[in-house]
Amino acid sequence: MAGMDFEFRGEKMPRSILMGYAKSDDRATRKECYEALGKGLSAHAAELDDIYDRLVHIRDRMAKKMGYKNFVELGYYRMGRLAYDQESIAVFRGNILKDVVPAVAKLRLENAKRLGIEGDFMLYDNDVVIPGGDPKPLGKEAIFEAAKKMYHAMSPETAQFIDLMMENEAFDVDSRKNKWGGGYCTEFPLYKQPFILANFNGTAGDVDVMTHEAGHALNAWFCFDNEPFELSMGMETAETHSMSMEFFAWPHMDKFFGDKAKEYRFMHALETFTFLPYGTIVDYFQHLVYENPDMTPAERKACWNGLEAKFRPWISTKGIPYLEEGTRWQYQMHIYESPFYYIDYVLAQTAAFEFLLASQENYDDAFGRYIALSKKGGTKLWPQLLKEAGLASPFEPGALKEVAEKVEALLESIR
Ligand SMILES: [Zn+2]
Repeated sequence: MAGMDFEFRGEKMPRSILMGYAKSDDRATRKECYEALGKGLSAHAAELDDIYDRLVHIRDRMAKKMGYKNFVELGYYRMGRLAYDQESIAVFRGNILKDVVPAVAKLRLENAKRLGIEGDFMLYDNDVVIPGGDPKPLGKEAIFEAAKKMYHAMSPETAQFIDLMMENEAFDVDSRKNKWGGGYCTEFPLYKQPFILANFNGTAGDVDVMTHEAGHALNAWFCFDNEPFELSMGMETAETHSMSMEFFAWPHMDKFFGDKAKEYRFMHALETFTFLPYGTIVDYFQHLVYENPDMTPAERKACWNGLEAKFRPWISTKGIPYLEEGTRWQYQMHIYESPFYYIDYVLAQTAAFEFLLASQENYDDAFGRYIALSKKGGTKLWPQLLKEAGLASPFEPGALKEVAEKVEALLESIR
């Protein structure tokens, strides 16, 4: 994927740069961007299908050789899931479908009118939120400067943390060919040093490095001195640290976006809300794939499109080359590389929304509970951490109803 070229307006570029155009205010540009994406992927269609097909069969054989029913069971163990199982996830998935999908569909279609989108809401309309163009950060230097000010304003501990990150130049954020895509945070425990990798492309996503990835890094820094972990930290816990930090950064968004801070907050809340159904599809797809390992590549694509229709009914892919066949998942790297690592983001996003809603009522209290949760990283299971932080478990039937209603109301009040 890192070596793949995409041709856009006569220029060859990596996918991370191409996708910057997916946020263009000009609908024709976005369409062109997704066409370039589809064509670029299509040139590798056989390879993409073959690699995944072999991965599915290898994983299935591994599971069966070890006496598991299929790779779903093994996949959960490999993710170190101790506090919830397939049944809990099925309940959670039902909560998303019942209470989140209709709310997101309604909000996105309403917003489409404000954007002047006529006809079907297309896949290439799903990346833009603000009429006149989504807010862009003030630039790379400004992002680093803003992050420093923000973490200094938050608390003495976060001030110390950001100074350490910057003094030790613990960032690699420039996009370049053959570089690993996406963003992540890793640690060098021996040096008690977190490190952040990203691929800046000039969109608001660049700010995530200083909020999302820094939320991971702050947690790592807090936990270097914890006694050897009793439990390994689940990814849903790790993503709770990062996704909640994105929201605790809200009061400081003027430092990153100038007078567009309000637009950013609206966009951020709507995009993250929109993410819940998408993330659920990514996870559900993998369940179906590993429960039916002999599906053909064409059947897998049909399966994906079936889930899209159910969980993202407002989106059409009709006429977009290659992507209309049900291949959106082929550039979701987790599906290839890290099976069953994805619902974690969705679970964590619901916890992050709970922190956001709490922070709207009493920021200091919510932030204090968040820091306390982060410091316990790896020593307790996620449901217990939520309970101690005063948050509700998303595994109860109907648990997301109130969150969805309040997020909708919050979006309306920002607008
Ligand atoms: Zn993360």
